[in-house]
This record gives sequence, structure tokens and C-alpha cells, in this order.
Amino acid sequence: MTPAPASTLALDARFARELPELALPWQAVDTPEPRLLVLNEQLADELGLDAGWLRGDGLGLLTGTRPPEGATPVAQAYAGHQFGGYSPRLGDGRALLLGELVDSSGRVRDLHLKGSGRTPFSRGGDGLAVVGPMLREHLVSEAMHALGIPTTRSLAVVATGRAVQRETVLPGAVLARVASSHLRVGSFQYARATDDLDLLRRLTDHAIARHHPQAAEADNPALALFEAVVATQAELIARWMLVGFVHGVMNTDNMTISGETIDYGPCAFMDAFDPATVYSSIDTGGRYAYGNQPVVAEWNLARLAEALLPLVADEQDAAVALAVEALGAFRERYSAAWSAGMRAKLGLPEGLDDAVASTLVADLLALVQTDHVDHTSFFRSLGAAARGDAEPARGMFLDLAGFDAWAERWLAVGPHAAAMDRVNPAYVPRNHLVEEALDAATAGDLEPFDRLLAVVSAPYDERPGLERYAEPAPDSFAGYQTFCGT
Ligand code: AMP
Ligand code: MG
Repeated sequence: MTPAPASTLALDARFARELPELALPWQAVDTPEPRLLVLNEQLADELGLDAGWLRGDGLGLLTGTRPPEGATPVAQAYAGHQFGGYSPRLGDGRALLLGELVDSSGRVRDLHLKGSGRTPFSRGGDGLAVVGPMLREHLVSEAMHALGIPTTRSLAVVATGRAVQRETVLPGAVLARVASSHLRVGSFQYARATDDLDLLRRLTDHAIARHHPQAAEADNPALALFEAVVATQAELIARWMLVGFVHGVMNTDNMTISGETIDYGPCAFMDAFDPATVYSSIDTGGRYAYGNQPVVAEWNLARLAEALLPLVADEQDAAVALAVEALGAFRERYSAAWSAGMRAKLGLPEGLDDAVASTLVADLLALVQTDHVDHTSFFRSLGAAARGDAEPARGMFLDLAGFDAWAERWLAVGPHAAAMDRVNPAYVPRNHLVEEALDAATAGDLEPFDRLLAVVSAPYDERPGLERYAEPAPDSFAGYQTFCGT
């Protein structure tokens, strides 16, 4: 398609119009010396935005300092359970919703900024963001998209020219984020806590219209919305688990109604397979460990159900019974999605008996965990093993006899190698590569970042010369930690 000329760019303000109680009109802080660090040209095209314009006169759109005429940038209000503790008023403390636009396939998308300055929700924070973490969100969200996992996208990262105080002084940046919406479980918690049923109803209608329109036709639309969110989150978390993604901060304000992954803060791809894997420095209890993610998602969905209760039925007991039953579908849906995904990862043939398949999967995961095998490279190497070269996979184990016995049973069922290479990525944003790229970018050299972005943007397509990107982290990298809100 031909991108629309910049002058015709019109952002809608549907969220602000329909839910003014959740939308505080606000402005982005000025950027002393904006410099574009990365632009997602493909996404710009999808949005009907001219890349050439964004690089020049349109830079003020990407920083929020020159929003389009008629736009109503707002800070969104939401609440949330953070590490299990309820905060009644979080909201966009360093972000703004610029507005909505319709993309080339007719979908409504939010254009949103992160790092755009203080808002009434900033509490003690400075409202700012820095280059490393914003490039990190760009890189990891684009990798997730390339893996086929629902996610918010990053349109651009712009360095602001402002020095930002963290542990040291770091270069500031703004991320321009695109999402099918920024409605969160925490948005519903906030609306519910106001005791304004009309607001809760409008929020529910807004969410249904944008994400789950079939729920509008149901006898009980609020319950149907809840069921749809349960289903889409069960599918999403299964996808995370299958690629070894650890979100790191699954607070209820970081869980979307759309089913997109959101807020790439302390996230990381797991190196050695272990359900107890935690990278976030503040997650000392392991609440958001890799293996806990399905349980936490279910817990968060229970909080969404509580917020929706007054709309589900007039009698609280009846509403609770309906919500509990709907939430019960999570486990089933998650297990089905995860099992189907594991079958695909192992290339198991269609007709293979479920009990045989699940034993093969469980036995393999036990071996992989015991020997601290690298998740991504192991599953990728299974493709070669199915084609007759088991050595690379075998070489990752200490318990050779254990692996050989498992491989013999697995090969006997006739795995499909070609299909496996389409679901087991060769390249994910490995933590040591991400850190290397971000350190260089912070120091002014974007080349390692650009290269890594190109590698993870085609994760299933193994290319010669990229061996280093497929290798596990060196042992010296053990004990890796990630950080929040930076
Ligand atoms: P997050 O962990 O990024 O999901 O953020 C949780 C909450 O903290 C949200 O309400 C954010 O807007 C807020 N927040 C994070 N970093 C900052 C910052 N530097 N200044 C102000 N608010 C922030
Ligand atoms: Mg957040």
C-alpha cells in the first residue's frame, strides 16, 4: 500500500472519549535533542505511516512532542496486583496513549509512548526511560512477533538527548509502542474499585467491541468476555512456555485483555531448562518463575473475574459460581495448547496416542532438566536428530544412556523433521547477546543491536555464519539478572 501523507494522519481518541474516567489528558515532556535509534519500517507501512516522514518531520510524533492535530494524548488509569499486593492507583507513570489508528488491514491499533515524562501517576518516579531498556523492549517484542507469539509491537526508539539518573547517568529514550489496545486486568480492577457500575459496563463494552466482539451476542456478555480472555491468555502462556520465555513481572497491570504479551521489563529467554528459572532481581520469592507462569496467569484471571462479578449476575453467589466455572476452562485450554505445542516440537505424528506422547514429553523434560540442557538449542537440534544425526542433541547430555534410551523410543514413533524446524527456533534473543548489544548501543554503537535484531527477526531460518547467535551462553554468564522499571 502507499502510505498516507503525513499531513492526513488522524488519531482517534476513542478510549479517551468512551472512558474519560480512565483517561487523563496530558502532554509529553520536551526532548532536547531527539535522535532516531531504530525504526520499524514494516510496521510503519502497516500503519500507513511514511517511514521517510517519521525519520524527519514526523519524529515529533514518535516522541509525542508534536502529536497530530486534533489528537488527545492521555495517561491511562489502572490499578494492579504487584507481586500479589494490591495497588489501587498505578496508571501510566511514564507513558501516554497518543490515540488509535486503523491499520492497512482495518484493525484498530493504539499508538502509545513509554518514557514520555512525568504524569499525575508518576508517584516518586521521573517519568523517563533510558536507551538500553527501550531497545530491549524493541528487540524482544519484535523477536516474539517473529516467533508468531501475540505481542505489542515497537514502532521506534528515539534517544531524547536527556541525561537520566539511574544507578549511573544514562542516555534517555522514548519508545513508540503499538498494541491492539492497552486494556489490562488492572484497568478492570480500577474501574471496579470506583464502585461506578456504569464505568465498569462501558469498559466492558469497549473491551468487547475491540477484542472479543462475539461476546456482544452472548446471553451474558460480561461472562463471555471473561471466557474469551481466559481462552486467549491460556493460548498465550502456552506459547511462552514452549519457547522458554520468562515474562518476569506478571502483575495484573501487565496482563492484557487482548491476549498480547505486554511490558518487556525484566523478561528473558531461559537458557538451561528449569521450571524454577527466575531472572528478575526483585523476584526473590520466585513468584514469576518460568514454571509458575500458568498458575500466575490463572491467579490474575481470578482478579479479572472479581472485577467483573457485578456484571456477571445480580446475585453475588450466582456470579461467583459462573466465574469459577469459566475460570476452570483455563487449565484445560492451557494443557491442550501446551501439549499440542510439545507434540509439534517433538515432531510427533498426528495419530500418536496421547498417553504415549505425554510420556515421551515428560521423560524428555526430566532428562533435560537434570542435565541443565540449553532449551533453545536442544529443541532445535532435535530436527537433525529426526533426520538421523542425533550427535548434536546427544552431546548436550551427561546421562548419555538416558538420552539414548529416550531417543530410541522417540525415533520409533517416526518424528517429522521438517515440521519441527518450523516450531523450534534456531535464534532467540539470548541474554548474553542482548546485554552485549545493549551495552554497545548505550555507548553509541548500534551495530551489534541492528545485527541481533535482524537475526531474531527470522528465528526459524538457520543461516550460515550466525552460529554464535545459536550457541548457549558461556558458563561465565551464569547468575544473569534483569531489572524492572528502568
Ligand atoms: P512496569 O513495571 O513498567 O509495568 O511499571 C509499573 C508502574 O510503575 C506503572 O504504573 C508505571 O507507569 C510506573 N513506572 C515505572 N517506571 C517509572 C518511572 N521511571 N517513572 C514513573 N513511573 C514509572
Ligand atoms: Mg506495566
